[in-house]
Amino acid sequence: MPFSDLGISPALAHAMVLQGFVLPTPVQAQTVPVALGGRDVLACAQTGSGKTAAYALVLLAQLAARPAHKPRQAAALVVVPTRELATQVGDTLRTLAQHAGQAARVTVLFGGVSINPQLMGLRGGTDIVVATPGRLLDVIDHRALSLGAVQTLVLDEADRLLDLGFAAELDRIRSLLPQRHQSLLYSATFAPAVRAMAQASLRSPVEVNVVAEEGEQPDIAQRAIQVDTNQRTPLLRHLMAEHGWSRVLVFVATKYAAEMVADKLRRAGLLAEPFHAQLSQGKRTQVLMDFKASAIQVVVATDVAARGIDIGDLPVVVNFDLPRSATDYTHRIGRTARAGASGLAVSFVSADMEAHLRLIEKRNRISIAREQVAGFVPTATAPVATLAGGIKGHRPSKKDKLRAAGLLPPLV
Ligand code: AMP
Repeated sequence: MPFSDLGISPALAHAMVLQGFVLPTPVQAQTVPVALGGRDVLACAQTGSGKTAAYALVLLAQLAARPAHKPRQAAALVVVPTRELATQVGDTLRTLAQHAGQAARVTVLFGGVSINPQLMGLRGGTDIVVATPGRLLDVIDHRALSLGAVQTLVLDEADRLLDLGFAAELDRIRSLLPQRHQSLLYSATFAPAVRAMAQASLRSPVEVNVVAEEGEQPDIAQRAIQVDTNQRTPLLRHLMAEHGWSRVLVFVATKYAAEMVADKLRRAGLLAEPFHAQLSQGKRTQVLMDFKASAIQVVVATDVAARGIDIGDLPVVVNFDLPRSATDYTHRIGRTARAGASGLAVSFVSADMEAHLRLIEKRNRISIAREQVAGFVPTATAPVATLAGGIKGHRPSKKDKLRAAGLLPPLV
């Protein structure tokens, strides 16, 4: 299906081609026409599937079809969970509009920076607002923006918005919208909380699921290397040297670990920077820009970088610490293999984290072979009691108990 079959203007279709895109991705093909038909959409779209461009095309096409949209009151609102995603979505909208020769005023609002320039920026009015929930409500409380003319609401990464505890803010935002508006909800998973929110706020949505389809999964090779906790930094350096990895995103559990690991790598002569929520917005933007420009080889990040960040050509993601949840695992490894490229995700597994990785494998219905690397063979092995089930924080299931009693084969 060519872009022109999506129901968008020739100018917008051409704008996609100008960016080097050949055909619509599945999420674009399946959501753009129905959204332009006025229906609410509930889309389960994998990270890197092209969902941002999907709703950007819808919003710009709708805007172009509203010549009477004056004075410039926000006609569309995109709510996103993080500042980085807000910036990225704003950039996508502006670039598309520019390539299409369309005048569209896009305002990006996020916290962690002074509110005043954002309030000033709204003085001339706006067409599309992209915002994180807290700052959006602050701006509204300052009476710098009204949602009274919003016709289309996009909730991007809805699962993340809910994970981050934004449910109350979303309720308030929705209460400020006109009664009749269209909603487009994108989420990487249809977790029960997302379904509940969709049920409460969408009107008989068209449901689109592009995740489960065979052959459309990103091409990510997954490896798990057993290693002692204190050998992880040397192992990372060894792998980088051995495989010639020029750009690696390393995930750790805490901001302290991000600082510490980046520091150790720097002292070993690598260009490494930490990335976490405690850094200033300016610093975070700079790190991402330097990473994209290859001025940094390694970014050591907390899960703040796991969702929605598009780093372009990123061949390798390393789980230095395993993620807390199976969903976070999916988001982290989804930073590689973007837009059809292939990628590699390596997880370091110390003996005490073996059971946790098994839980992630079980939840994601995957099985990753354990490997050891010469020179880094772990001294500790996984405690037997933990392997039999009873993962910390989770009660053993019936199957875990049967497994422990030897009545079921062990998980592999
Ligand atoms: P997402 O995070 O799901 O918005 O995916 C974004 C990635 O997909 C970016 O790298 C885009 O440049 C890329 N992308 C968007 N639309 C297309 C398309 N039609 N064909 C190929 N890549 C695309």
